[in-house]
Amino acid sequence: MSQQSSLTKSAHSVRQVLTAYIHEYTHHALVKVFPRSANMMEQLGELHEGLADYFSARFLESPLHGEGVGRYLGLKTSYIRSLANEDKYSAASPDDAFSRSVVWSGALWSCRGKLGQAVADGIVLQAWLELREHPQSKTILRTFASNLVKHERTVARTSSGGCLADQIAKRELPR
Ligand SMILES: [Zn+2]
Repeated sequence: MSQQSSLTKSAHSVRQVLTAYIHEYTHHALVKVFPRSANMMEQLGELHEGLADYFSARFLESPLHGEGVGRYLGLKTSYIRSLANEDKYSAASPDDAFSRSVVWSGALWSCRGKLGQAVADGIVLQAWLELREHPQSKTILRTFASNLVKHERTVARTSSGGCLADQIAKRELPR
């Protein structure tokens, strides 16, 4: 193996470890600011996974979660999940949090360019923090989606439209 390819391989391994680390750290941070969410995984699991993937993708600037690991897991792809998707909520398996999580993370990922990374992150975090005031768990995903739309409008100073609003509608996310 040449030194160059050996270095490339090491860089890939570092990224794989970082992806997993940031993903797990995001779970930890989300629970830290919203402790009740830890006991609401049945309702919030898909969102927890989606946000953990979004922030790890955002920091590593790659939409591919677990790039290079897929083949070891016997997957058809070189990665585990991709945020560069057009998935719809209705097509995702309701029994698989990850299947639905990529619809959320895909929507967020696709708007970061239009909104600007810092603005997009702020909207996402604000929408999550406001769930703390939400008393009912059944409608909590809908509340998250409407929080996203509300904060996007505030930032863009418009009364309608917006990238996140379009994504939520197009992907048939709960709203
Ligand atoms: Zn996770």
